[in-house]
Amino acid sequence: MANAATRIDTTARPGMKQDLTIVMYHYVRDFARSRFPGIRGLDLAGFRRQIDFLEQGYSIVGMPQVLAAIRGDEPLPPRAALLTFDDGYAEHYDLVFPELHKRGLPGCFYPPLAPVREHRLLDVNRVHFILAATLDDPSRVSAVIDARVRAEAASHGLDSVEVYRAEWAKPNRFDDAETIYIKRMLQTVLPEAMRHDIARDLFARFVTTDEAAFAAELYITEDQARLMQSCGMSFGSHGAEHLWLNRISPAEQAVEIDRSLAFLRDIGVGVDEGWVMCYPYGGWNESLLEVLRARGCSAGLTTEVATAEIGLNDPLRLPRYDTNDFPQ
Ligand SMILES: [Zn+2]
Repeated sequence: MANAATRIDTTARPGMKQDLTIVMYHYVRDFARSRFPGIRGLDLAGFRRQIDFLEQGYSIVGMPQVLAAIRGDEPLPPRAALLTFDDGYAEHYDLVFPELHKRGLPGCFYPPLAPVREHRLLDVNRVHFILAATLDDPSRVSAVIDARVRAEAASHGLDSVEVYRAEWAKPNRFDDAETIYIKRMLQTVLPEAMRHDIARDLFARFVTTDEAAFAAELYITEDQARLMQSCGMSFGSHGAEHLWLNRISPAEQAVEIDRSLAFLRDIGVGVDEGWVMCYPYGGWNESLLEVLRARGCSAGLTTEVATAEIGLNDPLRLPRYDTNDFPQ
């Protein structure tokens, strides 16, 4: 953790610390009508109840108010809360936007470029839908992974299936051992090209062979993003390819950010007056912060779990709660 000296923002004024509760959302679905009831996400009814709860206990503010508070222009109201929605899902337009609009509430949305503009499925979503389609028997998925590992162990210098299982097939408080094993193998353990290839094969077998059509349905469109902004919703960067930005070189970080900013400009975000970075997977490092500062970034949203303290926190490293940290 950072020490006190690095936490203090030099622009902060004494006595100006203001608490801001930032809430992070991903999937918000109408599960009664979903083809994929096995997807882990917040049901629309639970979302409505949670917004009721937040409206009663907090003042829900928009990103312009937060940026004004960061600049020191205008303080936040007491018990300020900010609603943030990651990954650009179509349900953010279909379900979240009408609900917020009806209540006169602002929301902040962070779509990456690749899924919205190029209809490319994010790796993280591919794995979610493979698991949702095989809930009755996830061993159908792990059998495919294990067969590939056995077939390619020698040529790829891999460990044996038994070694991987001993290390990774361990349950946690959310998932059973088999599900954790599948997630780890497809998300981090196997070499990137190989796990990508296996995940595509599994998606074609268990979900659909038309990934582009699936992605076109899963994510918002650029026109929807423009319409949402015209109704007071804010948009910011979630990178171009949804990479772990702390695992790539400074040059690659700059490319990711520049492509994302060009995309934001195209969908009507006024990035020249300051803009917001939402780190994919919460991943950031010092070189990324330099890239962001050089491009006028005003605020950065992490996945560290805490109440943000405007005037005290580095504005590029604001912590956020998850929707699961509040009643639904
Ligand atoms: Zn994301």
